Amino acid sequence: MPSLLDQIPDDVRFLLRRLREQGKRGWIVGGCVRDLLRDQVPKDWDVATDARPGEMKGMFARVVETGIRHGTVTVLVDGRPYEVTTLRGEGAYSDGRRPDEVHFVDDIRQDLARRDFTCNAIAIDSDGNLIDPFGGRQDLAAGIVRAVGEPIERFAEDGLRVLRAARFAAVLGARIDPATEQAMGDARAHATFRKVSAERIREEWWKSMRARRPSVAFEAMLRTGILALIAPELVESVGCAQNRFHAYDVWGHAMACLDACEPEPLLRLAALLHDVGKPRTRELSAKTGDYTFYDHEAVGAQMADPLLERLRFGNDERARIVALVRHHLICYASDWTDSAVRRWLRRVGPEQLPDLLRLARADARGKGLPPDEDLARLDELEARAGRLVAAGAALSVRDLAIGGRELIDELGMQPGPAMGRVLAQLLEQVLDDPGRNERAVLLAAARAIVAGR
Ligand code: ATP
Ligand code: MG
Repeated sequence: MPSLLDQIPDDVRFLLRRLREQGKRGWIVGGCVRDLLRDQVPKDWDVATDARPGEMKGMFARVVETGIRHGTVTVLVDGRPYEVTTLRGEGAYSDGRRPDEVHFVDDIRQDLARRDFTCNAIAIDSDGNLIDPFGGRQDLAAGIVRAVGEPIERFAEDGLRVLRAARFAAVLGARIDPATEQAMGDARAHATFRKVSAERIREEWWKSMRARRPSVAFEAMLRTGILALIAPELVESVGCAQNRFHAYDVWGHAMACLDACEPEPLLRLAALLHDVGKPRTRELSAKTGDYTFYDHEAVGAQMADPLLERLRFGNDERARIVALVRHHLICYASDWTDSAVRRWLRRVGPEQLPDLLRLARADARGKGLPPDEDLARLDELEARAGRLVAAGAALSVRDLAIGGRELIDELGMQPGPAMGRVLAQLLEQVLDDPGRNERAVLLAAARAIVAGR
């Protein structure tokens, strides 16, 4: 087996060597070790050392005191930044997040003991030896997320770890060890969990969405009761049976749709939420004897918006996700006229088309029934919509051959709501017949509209 050292970049090996020359020791730790052991390329390298921050200033040419209170400095190697952190044990977390006091230690094992999960508590020393006191390598190979030490205490110290456990389970495609999962549920009641900020929850959700199967994280949050605290709206879907178009209940479908969706967090958030309105709109149809979910897209959009706001999503992201939920139901059939396709495009917004189709395909694949017919319909819609957009179809008032300027100059209209109404009527005509989108035709039509009043 090639030495782990071979996979560590020269800069990082230089840091470890230099520390040793100065009578100190250095290790690489945390996420980068986890990544290396999974044959993945780490995105950043964290170095731990028994040198104190003050000592490091003398050892390297360029040291930036980024987080000196927590024992972290940034060392520049040929201009490239590396975080080097002094070994520490941990004091109590009185606000549930930050340690009250940092106390430095000299033993790497003590530093590893304060870390959250066994897979994150492995170090590699400057000779390439693995230091793995908690069996992290074995857990990683077996696909197990396990708390370091006593799980209940570890979650009580820091509520964020509950969400990190769910996230790592998804990202690593792992199971959560039963004792650890039990403690996650118990941690719900603990004050530290309630102190986790909405931003941190959002970040963990976002990172979970990059997993091959994000459902692993959301199922874990559901089982442990965390989801009921963060997003009770979503829990309404559990056990909400559907109709002949679906093999799963609303929750199961949301999970399947999530996993079937391309690994783009924003799109996957829309997949998670797309049917959130179904439980509140479900009715038994007397005619078919089956459930209907009339207007669930609109109700769902109304529910998704405050949920995303609570989790402090940015306005732009929130608006995009809500719009995807609002328009996810595509009732396209081959007998739609071109004008119907243009009207649909105008309603959803042509810029949303690619994401909407990606969501609709995941929706079709997540029903637990053969998706072929749905997918064929979506292919056809995509082709037709693409042709109409390419042909320059006017889909908004902005695309009309005349605008407010012409209505003022040619018809002597005053700016105001009446002008907006005329333009809206012209757009209706052009949606029916794109051939009418010409200056002379539209001016004549505008005169007729104004005279008709
Ligand atoms: P990623 O960078 O993908 O989020 P990571 O494991 O590198 O994953 P970081 O937040 O960068 O996570 O933290 C680096 C290391 O610090 C972790 O591997 C873990 O050992 C430790 N750590 C981070 N957050 C916590 C926490 N809340 N409790 C205990 N240890 C933690
Ligand atoms: Mg990291």
